[in-house]
Amino acid sequence: MLGKVCVIGGGISGITSAILLQKKGFEVTLIEARNRLGGRLCSYYNSVGLSFDNGKHILAGWYNKTLELISILGTSDKLIRLRGLRTVFIEKDGKHSELFISNNFIFSFFNILKFKKLSLKDILNLVFFLRTVKKNNIKKEFLRLSVRDLLFKYKQTLPLFEYFWNPFVISVFNTIPERLSSDIFLNVLNEGFKNSDNLDLILFGDSIDDIFINPFIKYAEKNNIRILKSSKIEQIIFDDKLIKKIIINGKVQNSYNYYVLSVSSQNLSNIFIQSKIIPDIINSFDFKYNSIMNIHIFYKNIPDEYLKNKTYGMFGIINGLSHWWFFHKSLISVVISCPELSIKDYSLLSNEKLKGMVLNELSQRLKWFDINQVSDIKLLKDKKATFVSEIGTSNFRPENSTLFKNLFITGDFTNTGFPSTIESAVKSAYNMTEKICESR
Ligand SMILES: Cc1cc2nc3c(=O)[nH]c(=O)nc-3n(C[C@H](O)[C@H](O)[C@H](O)COP(=O)(O)OP(=O)(O)OC[C@H]3O[C@@H](n4cnc5c(N)ncnc54)[C@H](O)[C@@H]3O)c2cc1C
Repeated sequence: MLGKVCVIGGGISGITSAILLQKKGFEVTLIEARNRLGGRLCSYYNSVGLSFDNGKHILAGWYNKTLELISILGTSDKLIRLRGLRTVFIEKDGKHSELFISNNFIFSFFNILKFKKLSLKDILNLVFFLRTVKKNNIKKEFLRLSVRDLLFKYKQTLPLFEYFWNPFVISVFNTIPERLSSDIFLNVLNEGFKNSDNLDLILFGDSIDDIFINPFIKYAEKNNIRILKSSKIEQIIFDDKLIKKIIINGKVQNSYNYYVLSVSSQNLSNIFIQSKIIPDIINSFDFKYNSIMNIHIFYKNIPDEYLKNKTYGMFGIINGLSHWWFFHKSLISVVISCPELSIKDYSLLSNEKLKGMVLNELSQRLKWFDINQVSDIKLLKDKKATFVSEIGTSNFRPENSTLFKNLFITGDFTNTGFPSTIESAVKSAYNMTEKICESR
């Protein structure tokens, strides 16, 4: 046994940390404030036991560490892999149009030609820009620009924004191109172009509970990882650059050799403020967050062509209120990213009004949609869903090691080079595990 570790926070980063540290030979306790694990990954159940997740989480082919974690959990068979970056859009009049981009630009060029919304000039400009990114030839001075300004420098036209860049940026980064920093945007594109599988989109064929949470609980039981739910860390007590004790639910605990804080950036600031840890560190956790809204509509008899199309039920919505519609089993899930930026007067709209607006959009674009077939609707707003990768954010994302030799930090906001995603949270846990082992 290499020592006792207390992992604080049972989100995906804490879960991954617990598994990796146990595999290295540490005795692990995982402490979570809520009465459930998963953090920003969460499944709910309606009154008749049908599950729906807090968000339609999507993975990408470049999520190497997340795919490794899912393989450890034994649930890779519950993933649905779409080859390449393929989107089927539903237009205002209900017509479908398909856009497909792969790692092979000549092949992509001919495929994009079939997408009638873009002119030849648009397509040439797009392919030229993607090639420049793949060859790593973007000018260094442009890394400090917003994505909107960067794309204008490379002659990306308004139709390209409308049909490609806006949907891409909103769904991957949960913000708009004018608010996104080019460095993180280019990191993601570079990952996507590294090999032919990396651009693939990966959907969940089952609930978050079935893919992550329940398999982890089984894994923990089998491998002696202790899980304490409803246990909130209030304060850490330090002395001479070492954490000596922590206070959980008002009680002092001092039986651990290492502490790993896997909480979100705001919770980390709160713990540090309570613990009277140097204000300079706290300021650096001042990330801005955007929300995500999901509206799950339970619907009888979704037509097969929407459940089993080329993108397995995933459709992009152009010039609408919604960004994505997902059709899966008897559920239509509507995703609206960063609604505070994308919906006019969002803060003034009641949930009932928002539900009505979404149902109206479904009725307008889908001939078969009949409101009488809706058996239940759930509207979920995750107010602090993802931090925003604005210009300059990369400069203050914290490392996994801290000033305290036995205290480590993980989470999507640490310095992974990735945006606020599952992959960033999981990769952060892998990086931390290396750091903790090196420190011994
Ligand atoms: C609606 C929605 C949709 C999303 N869609 C995608 C997507 O499609 N693809 C993608 O890659 N990412 C997506 N994300 C982002 C992704 O879910 C997050 O980046 C990731 O889950 C963050 O994990 P984490 O472990 O770093 O943090 P968290 O999930 O926030 O986990 C932190 C945990 O710490 C616990 N905690 C906090 N304070 C304390 C304390 N004092 N004591 C003990 N425990 C504490 C919390 O309760 C929580 O469980 C989405 C997020 C949301 C909300």
